[in-house]
Amino acid sequence: MEPPKKEIRLFQLTILSWFKSNARQFQWRALGLSIYQIVISEVLLQRTKAETVSKNYDIFFKRYPDWNSLNNSNICDIENLLFPFGLYRQRAQRLKALAKAMVENNVLLPNERSLIEKIPLMGQYIANAVELLVFKRNIPLLDVNMARVLERYFGPRKLKDIRFDPYLKFLSREVVDHIKSKEINWAILDFAALICQSRKPKCPICVFQKTCQYHLKIYN
Ligand code: SF4
Repeated sequence: MEPPKKEIRLFQLTILSWFKSNARQFQWRALGLSIYQIVISEVLLQRTKAETVSKNYDIFFKRYPDWNSLNNSNICDIENLLFPFGLYRQRAQRLKALAKAMVENNVLLPNERSLIEKIPLMGQYIANAVELLVFKRNIPLLDVNMARVLERYFGPRKLKDIRFDPYLKFLSREVVDHIKSKEINWAILDFAALICQSRKPKCPICVFQKTCQYHLKIYN
């Protein structure tokens, strides 16, 4: 069952207030980033801890500051630079293919979702990030971390695969449908990393204690 709007609003207010004093600071959250930096950062962040990306971020962007430099580079050089990020072979292939596609498109990013998805190796998650961070649309960065927080708070999904679960899709869209959509997305990511962790959620110090379904079920 879909949660009432009132519950969603309360969640938004609480997570934004938590974020105000607990937001993590990362290079890719600075203002004025180029489309290149936004897209590449999201590829680097997939399946890699934000702290690991942050440590190696500046070296990467100094070596490859734009689509052209990445496209013109040797795949082995990209792999070497990506080694500290993990998954370096597959990520190097992906970045190179993305750079090639962007250069062939005169480094212009289409603003329609269906066209963004057609860019080779863009993927659903990066397309969501592009819509949110480049085109300022209220789109959720739904991944396992956001899913965990939402499911614990509002109740579990029905399908195994997060990407196709209609309840989670609806819920995540409602939760980020806000003038501060980007901040809510980042707040949920930070909250998942710092408080609502996968193995040991820090329920005793959590701001959602009184309203979270998971907490109420476990502790009552
Ligand atoms: Fe997560 Fe516990 Fe907070 Fe619920 S109360 S949101 S399970 S940390």
